[in-house]
Amino acid sequence: MAAFDFDLFVIGGGSGGVRAARMAAQRGARVALAEQDGTQGLGGTCVNVGCIPKKLYSYAAHFADSFEESHGFGWEGDAPRLNWQTLKANRKREISRLNGIYLKLLAGSGVTVMNAHACVTGPHSVSADGHAWTCANILLATGGTPNVPKVPGGELVCTSNDMFDLEPFPKRLLVVGGGYIACEFASIFNGLGAEVVQIYRGEQVLRGFDADVRQFIAAELRKSGVDLRLACDVKGITRTADGLAVGLDGAGGIGQSLSVDRVLYATGRVPNVRGLGLHDQGVELGRDGGIVVGANYQTSVPSIYAIGDVTARVQLTPVALGEAMVLVDHLFGPAAGKAARSMSYQFIPTAVFTHPNIGTVGYAEFDARAKFGKVTVYRSEFTALKHTLSGSSERTLMKLIVEDATDLVVGLHMVGPDAGEIVQGFAVAMKAGATKAVFDSTIGIHPTAAEEFVTMREPVRSVV
Ligand code: FAD
Ligand code: NDP
Repeated sequence: MAAFDFDLFVIGGGSGGVRAARMAAQRGARVALAEQDGTQGLGGTCVNVGCIPKKLYSYAAHFADSFEESHGFGWEGDAPRLNWQTLKANRKREISRLNGIYLKLLAGSGVTVMNAHACVTGPHSVSADGHAWTCANILLATGGTPNVPKVPGGELVCTSNDMFDLEPFPKRLLVVGGGYIACEFASIFNGLGAEVVQIYRGEQVLRGFDADVRQFIAAELRKSGVDLRLACDVKGITRTADGLAVGLDGAGGIGQSLSVDRVLYATGRVPNVRGLGLHDQGVELGRDGGIVVGANYQTSVPSIYAIGDVTARVQLTPVALGEAMVLVDHLFGPAAGKAARSMSYQFIPTAVFTHPNIGTVGYAEFDARAKFGKVTVYRSEFTALKHTLSGSSERTLMKLIVEDATDLVVGLHMVGPDAGEIVQGFAVAMKAGATKAVFDSTIGIHPTAAEEFVTMREPVRSVV
């Protein structure tokens, strides 16, 4: 491999790219990584404009409920007010700290970091930083970017990238979309004190999630104060003296209009492939614009690999990290004394950080029926102990789906406080093949919400 400048050239310093570069360098490979947003872009979407700042703002938003709920427990006094400038400044400081840690980890592993946009110029060559570099392998880890559909006045809208630094704080916010980002940001800005209207073009938010979960979270979002309107779309947006006037369309919005300060479009993300030179090199793209990969994340050009969001498959940070580690084992061999890793896409747990959270792993009821034939469903809905005194009307939903033929738990869903934290542990059990009998024989931790998952005895239905 010494004929090349590098053994691996990684394009993109996000979750997948940083992990791959660092692990490859630790195996002794000569590695370069180019990040177009410079050292303050290291960590990519997740660190800069995704998971981390989103979760920090979600924590901030939760305080509003906590202050309110404390009265039922005897706490007195007025609720403090949000200082948006403090929140933004503290978030910025923490993200800069994380960018610095990423740089240190890369440099400490011996990775050559370039603050540059990179472009593939051949199966073994990359142009970056004003140089033509040669490399044995190229890894495309360029992630994705928000997609805003064409709409009159579209130049007036924001995307999730803009939301963390808005100035001033949007008192009236319209959120367009019904996916992860739309539901999370509607919850967060509602909690932070904005008047939030969320519109979704379809019949129910969070397409692909379990039907009970979708219905339940829609009710909880509304109870918490989000004005959620279904079968509703944007006709056009214009600037007025009062902010933005938004004309609505669709069965749920026809003839209506809204006056808001900001419009957030959270209508999906597209893979970052523009300007990468992929067409000229014959790297195949799928219909959704994602890079097509086969075994071991190899593209149609054997020396070029792709992982993470740019492949437009599962767009989650832990998936990009997992793919990076599988690829490094494939290219440079596993760590000493370890077997080469592989990755299964079954039972990937996920959380939506709405208020309350959604946590889910495995199949939705509808999909489980289609895949397994006969399944039995267990469902429990209750008021959490905390809310017996808090005055909150928030409810919790838990649901298990069991394959009749094997007794395996194939779907586990929760809407409720800390659902993400709770479901992570159950995901391990499901990966290990836990049956309903194993769930039943597990002793609960009392008093918790999570114990409900091991005490649901009476099925609500058995369905084919
Ligand atoms: P990215 O992290 O997007 O990194 C790609 C990097 O490549 C970027 O830094 C980009 O600047 C750089 N780049 C692109 N083109 C070039 C080029 N030509 N040259 C040089 N550099 C280039 N996932 C979760 O698991 N949990 C969450 O809670 C969560 N919350 C999210 C919230 C939001 C608002 C968003 C938008 C996403 C969220 N995600 C979450 C998804 C998660 O952020 C992504 O799945 C993850 O970041 C993908 O990692 P990646 O390495 O594929 O790409
Ligand atoms: P999603 O794919 O989750 O949702 C996109 C939403 O926009 C859907 O409701 C979709 O409707 C709607 N939509 C798409 N096109 C249009 C259009 N032309 N007009 C109106 N509505 C439209 O994408 P997000 O942008 O919310 O998030 C991207 C990905 O990032 C997620 O899929 C997830 O993988 C990841 N993410 C993960 C998070 C987490 O782990 N907590 C948090 C945030 C993001 P329809 O369903 O009808 O197509």
